[in-house]
Amino acid sequence: MSRMMKAIRMYAPRDLRLEQVPVPEIKENEALVKVMAVGICGSDIPRINKYGAYISPITPGHEFSGEIVEVGAAVKNFKVGDRVTVPPLLPCFKCEFCQQGHYSLCKDYKYFGSRNDGAFAQYVAVPEPNLLKVADNVSFEAAATADPLANALHAIKRGGFKPGDKVCVFGLGAIGLYCIQYMKAKGAKIAVAVDVDERKLQVARDCGADVAIDGRAADVVDQVIAATDGGADVCIDASGFPVAQHNAIEATAKHGTMVLLGISHQPLTLSEKCLDWVMRGEKAIVGSWNSFSKPFPGWEWTHGVESLADGTIDAEKVITHKLPLEEVPSIFDKIYKKELYFNKILFLPWME
Ligand SMILES: [Zn+2]
Ligand SMILES: [Zn+2]
Repeated sequence: MSRMMKAIRMYAPRDLRLEQVPVPEIKENEALVKVMAVGICGSDIPRINKYGAYISPITPGHEFSGEIVEVGAAVKNFKVGDRVTVPPLLPCFKCEFCQQGHYSLCKDYKYFGSRNDGAFAQYVAVPEPNLLKVADNVSFEAAATADPLANALHAIKRGGFKPGDKVCVFGLGAIGLYCIQYMKAKGAKIAVAVDVDERKLQVARDCGADVAIDGRAADVVDQVIAATDGGADVCIDASGFPVAQHNAIEATAKHGTMVLLGISHQPLTLSEKCLDWVMRGEKAIVGSWNSFSKPFPGWEWTHGVESLADGTIDAEKVITHKLPLEEVPSIFDKIYKKELYFNKILFLPWME
C-alpha cells in the first residue's frame, strides 16, 4: 500500500477539498521535498477563485520551501536533510527561449500548481534543477517567499535600477514590498510607495519607504513627482490596476523606466498627455514576466536566497498569516468574499 499524505485538491474554481492522496513517487532525477511552508501567490487567487487550472483535479500551490527526505539515484548535488526552496517553473530547456536563458518565455513548460501538482500538500517530487539550497539561518517561512522575491528582483533588473536612483512602487503586495525593501537597502536615493490600503502603506514605511501615498488621492502623480523631484527613475506597477499603471507611467522621470509587473486582465488606454510625456520624456515602458534567467533558475533566485540570509530582506514584514493546510478552502472563500486583510499568507502543512 502506498504512503498517504494530506493535500488540497481543486476540482473546479472555488471547489477545494482536503484529501488523503498517495505520497508522490520520485523519479531518478528527483528529490522528495517535505513541504514546510507554502504561500498563496497573487496568481493563485484568480486561478482558484475564477479561472481554474490546466488540469483537474490538481493540487495548487507553487511558492514553497521544505526539507529533502528522499533523493533519486541520479541526483548529484543534494542529499537528505537539505533545506530547499523550489523555483516553480519546469522549462523544456530545449526551445529557442530556453537556449537563450529566457526560461519565462519557454514554449513548452510545466509549472507546479497550475500544470503539475503543487505544494498545498505535505510532499512534492521536485527535479534536481528546481532545487535551491537555503542557508540554515533562513526560516522555512522566509524561504517560501523566495518566489515573490525573485519576481521583485526580476522587475528591478528589468527597470535598470542602480544605487542613487529615485524609485516608486505602485501596489504593495509581497512583490511590491520586496521591491521597496531591496531598492532601499541597495541605495535608492528616495523610495515612494503607493497603495489604496492605509495598512499596506504603514507596512511599506516599515520596509523603508521614505514616502507612502494613498493611491486614491486625485493628485497621486503630482505627489510622486514632488517626492522624487521630477519623477521616479524606476517606477514599478505591481498592482495590475489600469489606473495605477497609468499613474505609474505619468510618474516616471524623463529617461526613466516604467515596469509593468502586476497582471490586470484589462486593457489600458493612455491619455493624450500621458502618451505625449512618454515621447517627450523618452520614457521606456517595459514588461516583466516571472523571475528566471541563465543559468537556471538565475540571479533572481540565487541572489534572492542570499538576500534573505544576509538580512537585506526581512520576510516577516510581508507575512500576515501562518495557518494549517486545513484552512486553505476557507481562506480562499474569505478572499473571494473580500472579508480578509492579508499580505503574504503561508500554510504550514505539518502544523497541528
Ligand atoms: Zn507566484
Ligand atoms: Zn523551453
